[in-house]
Amino acid sequence: MTSLLDVRRLTVNFFSEAGTVTPVDEVSFQLAKGETLALVGESGCGKSLTALSILQLLPRAASIGPGSTIELDGEDLVPMDEAALRAVRGGRIAMIFQDPMTSLDPVYTAGSQITEAIRAHRDVGKRQARERALQLLEEVGIPDPLSRFDQYPHELSGGMRQRVMIAIALSCEPQVLIADEPTTALDVTVQAQILEILDRLRRSHDMAVLLITHDLGIVAGRADRVAVMYAGRIVETAPTDRLFQHPAHPYTQALLASVPRLTGPLQRLSPIHGTVPNPDAWPAGCRFHPRCPYAFDRCQQQPPVRTVSDGHETACWLESPQ
Ligand code: SF4
Repeated sequence: MTSLLDVRRLTVNFFSEAGTVTPVDEVSFQLAKGETLALVGESGCGKSLTALSILQLLPRAASIGPGSTIELDGEDLVPMDEAALRAVRGGRIAMIFQDPMTSLDPVYTAGSQITEAIRAHRDVGKRQARERALQLLEEVGIPDPLSRFDQYPHELSGGMRQRVMIAIALSCEPQVLIADEPTTALDVTVQAQILEILDRLRRSHDMAVLLITHDLGIVAGRADRVAVMYAGRIVETAPTDRLFQHPAHPYTQALLASVPRLTGPLQRLSPIHGTVPNPDAWPAGCRFHPRCPYAFDRCQQQPPVRTVSDGHETACWLESPQ
């Protein structure tokens, strides 16, 4: 499959008086048109920074390291100037965030924020932008779009606000949608609705979706492939079914063992002991070794990425950890 978004050896460095830290370290993944790739891992493992670096929305103290490439349709975004990047952001790659309340402007109505996004990227008049905004509100499942159009974010529920964010993201028909923990701030029933809307829109707009989540439970049945991230690196990539049935990396196995299952025999959930280390103190070698039940001497060295089967790769010294 041809890649629409091709990220290779992406490194993000933070500079401070205390030195340089690298919270994203040589991350590579590809995303094809119409595909959903889930980027999964615990909080603090570098998922959101990876997403922000694709749009180059990094904090001032951070920069993308030399040798990193982020190709969209064959064009590298890393060397682009700010004007070119502005056309990419929202126009070709859009992003929705965890908390729509902090992403929406509280002093503008939902409708005006959608029309503004449309007019920032398209040469259309006010009336056309309003018509398109109303269509989008309908597309994301907002009942009575005409009256919602003139409401302010505080007058909408959390689920409605996230739908408005999705409408803004879709307003310019992006090729890639990055959804960073899009349902974490919502209750479970609304979560399912938002994920279904994203999936439906991906199919109808033939978009590529990068779904960032700490929750493997929402990935099954929604993502085509999964990339598991730990301490700034991708440790396993596989087609979703394959990853759930035959996880090869001990970290993926531990993540799966900590997700409750509704089917099969009752099983005690198994937590992953310890926490993700800080980027200024990444362990040497395999970064999972302080928490890995199978760690042995060789794990003090960085394991290479190895192919397990077609489309399934892992970075672990052991062929079948158990
Ligand atoms: Fe565990 Fe070693 Fe594999 Fe890392 S390389 S996951 S420490 S067995």
